[in-house]
Amino acid sequence: MHIGLDDTDSTRKGCTTYVAALLVEKLQGLKAEFIDYPNLIRLNPNVPWKTRGNGALCIRILYDENLEERIKEVVISAVEEHSDLEFRGTDPGVVFFREAKISKEVKIFAENAITGIVGLKEALKLLKKFGAEAVGFKKCRGIIGGLAAVGETLQGDHTYEILAYRVPENYGLKRRVDEDSIFEMDRATAPYTFNNVDLEKGRVIITPRGPDPILFGIRGERPEIVKKAFELVKPLEPVERWVIFRTNQGTDAHLKRVEKLGQIKPCHPVIARGTVSTAPKIIPLRHIIFAIKDENEQVDCAAYEPTGALRNSARKLVVGDYLEVYGGVRKPSENNPLTINLEKIRLLRLAPKIVYHNPFCQKCGKRLKSMGKDKGFRCERCGSRYVNLEKVEVKVKREIRKGLYITSTRSQRHLTKPFRRYGMEKQHAKVEGLIENWHFP
Ligand code: ZN
Repeated sequence: MHIGLDDTDSTRKGCTTYVAALLVEKLQGLKAEFIDYPNLIRLNPNVPWKTRGNGALCIRILYDENLEERIKEVVISAVEEHSDLEFRGTDPGVVFFREAKISKEVKIFAENAITGIVGLKEALKLLKKFGAEAVGFKKCRGIIGGLAAVGETLQGDHTYEILAYRVPENYGLKRRVDEDSIFEMDRATAPYTFNNVDLEKGRVIITPRGPDPILFGIRGERPEIVKKAFELVKPLEPVERWVIFRTNQGTDAHLKRVEKLGQIKPCHPVIARGTVSTAPKIIPLRHIIFAIKDENEQVDCAAYEPTGALRNSARKLVVGDYLEVYGGVRKPSENNPLTINLEKIRLLRLAPKIVYHNPFCQKCGKRLKSMGKDKGFRCERCGSRYVNLEKVEVKVKREIRKGLYITSTRSQRHLTKPFRRYGMEKQHAKVEGLIENWHFP
């Protein structure tokens, strides 16, 4: 059975991964056999109603059929107990999908939930077709994510994350983890773990902020490496439990390539190509905006201030540069056209950057002064005048090179593939058995 969960948390309380972590322990007590690590599936970060990380969970088990009803009860009561049901916008859902093999339709539904927008109606239709059961609370939106998590079986590129949870007494208090041990862990496990620290700011990023139960999470290529990394980090407060998840984090799974700029739709994250058509300008709050175009369309691209390195690169672009842009798409509003919120840029071709200088005096060699538009030039040293000379084109060195530019680690989305992962992508990954001790307790 595949058990999908989503939307139990709010900005003030809880975390769906924690519900899954609790269920791992409870299901083990009911003799369930895990056929995969719990899957943590990040859905489209660009949907307007997302919770914090927009992560849905799926637990895949073999079980004793006599215990089926008991298992469902345990799952539903865990969701009920640990969801922030009073919070507007928290609409939990649970899906029980009994068919062992996940059909293509459900996989496509999952892909659409990761790259675009899917509806509850569509989810309910699929649930009915495959004889699956679902329990929804309030507006039941969590059923969508629950089914999407069931359908994303992570056969392609994927990563792992080990999550350590706090004891409830510490929720809301400052997280206490030895920072030096995190930098050491990063050095010891690179390049097989990622997004541990932001080297630009010298800051640790494995510890979230906020009231949720997570103490820290370490992301990496294999279960063994995140486990090893976990053992290198020294927590300075008790860890209640920990679990290794298999995930689509750091894989760019949300981005879908479009051939033409005209195909870009709001809320559908894209990869698109175009030529810079308006020079980058700095708008208030130090964001950078420029436009790209192809034969028929033009769209705005925004590199926000927190994107750091990416923003600094974007400001060096010039009209004529040919590039590939990666990012979420903001809905157009009255004042703003369709805009791609950049996560990455791949600079494919550099246009020459040309500046115009006044020519030199032909008699004495001094650079001439312009006498105004179309009025020629005059030499300040010897007094010569020139009416037929024109400004000289000078190609200046570009301050940017061809290549890939990614938003700074601290502002990367869960799904953004970081530099460290390039070349590590898993193709048609075969999931091997679970390593020993992949959760506690
Ligand atoms: Zn002169």
